[in-house]
Amino acid sequence: EKPLLQVKNLKKYYPIKKGVISRTVGYVKAVDDVSFDIYPGETVGLVGESGCGKSTTGRSLVRLEDPTAGQVIFQGKDLAKISNKEMRKLRTELQIIFQDPYSSLNPRKRIGDLLAEPLIAHKLATRSEADKKVNEILEIVGLSKQYKNRYPHEFSGGQRQRIGIARALMLHPKLIICDEPVSALDVSIQAQVLNLLKDLQKELKLTYVFIAHGLGAVKYISDRICVMYLGRVMEFATTKEIFEHPLHPYTEILLNAYPIPNPHMRDRKQIVVEGDVPSPANPPKGCVFHTRCPFAKDICKEKIPTLTGKGHTVACHFPLESVNV
Ligand code: SF4
Ligand code: MG
Repeated sequence: EKPLLQVKNLKKYYPIKKGVISRTVGYVKAVDDVSFDIYPGETVGLVGESGCGKSTTGRSLVRLEDPTAGQVIFQGKDLAKISNKEMRKLRTELQIIFQDPYSSLNPRKRIGDLLAEPLIAHKLATRSEADKKVNEILEIVGLSKQYKNRYPHEFSGGQRQRIGIARALMLHPKLIICDEPVSALDVSIQAQVLNLLKDLQKELKLTYVFIAHGLGAVKYISDRICVMYLGRVMEFATTKEIFEHPLHPYTEILLNAYPIPNPHMRDRKQIVVEGDVPSPANPPKGCVFHTRCPFAKDICKEKIPTLTGKGHTVACHFPLESVNV
């Protein structure tokens, strides 16, 4: 099977400017040499503490950011190289849902108009066709079409996220980047929105990238999980592998923070991590995790571990299995 999307050595650096002449004094390395493939119909969870480059990676996948280096290839096409006309067409296939849908909804517009907007802007439908589509999509996301005439402030958090999802669905996307879509919601509402996303995926053959800082929601929705730290991929494997045989110390730390105790880890001593994520403007040399890793050795401070392995990949000089025997 061919990947729907390929990320190859993606880098996104933001210049740090200083002084009256705005001299570049360094770079924030938000994403640093990230590669992975996403297959049609799967959900890839992107996990890590805030500031690990998850959102920037997600935004790059739908070309809300242009890479500093590397490629994002969607259905065989390099997003940085296609014409504006082609990009306009692809825009309909690549959508993003944010944590706070309210901030992206114009408060002075009715929901019906907000949902119809992209269809009309892309000249994909007449006003009456768009209205019909709005009714249909509202129903699909579990909101009555009666809601069309209401304004964003009249909806609860969970309902607003349903509207955010409806908005992404209006253009029949193939890939949806879900950037912490449930993080701001109550736990009971989280489950409802996750179930909706799962149902929609099956019905509409959607592919998701699901971004979160913890493993809870990600475990429930993802087929595979990509663990990021300071702009780099630390580990990438199926959800089952990540939970049952984590190889990277950072993954194990994230698992320890997971609310439900992991039976496979009971006989392991708990690894604790101290301190905050270092600044991506000044990432540690060698393995970027070495300043917080309980297993760090001299080589970790010098040499960047490459992502190795087949299927289950890990970037660590001393993967856990070998540490724990
Ligand atoms: Fe820890 Fe070294 Fe592995 Fe980095 S390479 S995670 S510092 S053991
Ligand atoms: Mg983020």
